[in-house]
Amino acid sequence: TAFSSLKIHADLLKNLTSLGYEHMTPIQARSLPDILAGKDVIAQGKTGSGKTAAFGLGLLQKLDVKVHAVQSLVLCPTRELADQVAKEIRRLARSVSNIKVLTLCGGMPFGPQVGSLEHGAHIVVGTPGRIEDHLSRGTMRLNRVNTLVLDEADRMLEMGFQASLDNIVNQIPKWRQTLLFSATFPDQIKSISRRIMLKPVMVQV
Ligand code: AMP
Repeated sequence: TAFSSLKIHADLLKNLTSLGYEHMTPIQARSLPDILAGKDVIAQGKTGSGKTAAFGLGLLQKLDVKVHAVQSLVLCPTRELADQVAKEIRRLARSVSNIKVLTLCGGMPFGPQVGSLEHGAHIVVGTPGRIEDHLSRGTMRLNRVNTLVLDEADRMLEMGFQASLDNIVNQIPKWRQTLLFSATFPDQIKSISRRIMLKPVMVQV
């Protein structure tokens, strides 16, 4: 299916063409209509499936660059994945002037991250521990977040991030959209999705 069948901004669509994205991957075709409709979605997506563009287009479609606050938060299990996700979101957002995508991961110095936050970020991609640190130190607020993404949620739970995730989610408005991507669906995933999502649509590919 072509991306042009979706209700997305013309500039985002034009940029997809310039990136050489013509047809949606299966996970994109199955999840994007619900994501763009604002529903909570649980999707089975491995690396290489095109899952980043699935949630990335969803959050970019809703984003308002004129609002100087974090509007989307993407949580990832590792710095490597966070860097990769941020890179793909920046590519998808090339047509959006002045948009700021910030990565906040552990193992990186704290000071420069605080400086970047002071300059403003629209989209934050990071690992749960460091995001929690910024929240507890008061260096970041999530009260304007409208889209929360948990990427590789099964790996984050395996790594023991459950309490961090709950803590972070509690600081995000309840009227948000929550998107969860996971390769596997153990009971822990079912239980967290019941706590943090509203009537999620399940997408399997
Ligand atoms: P991901 O699974 O999100 O890590 O994406 C895997 C790779 O596929 C990335 O390098 C994307 O740039 C690329 N990609 C994602 N969606 C499409 C698409 N619809 N057409 C062509 N390439 C894509």
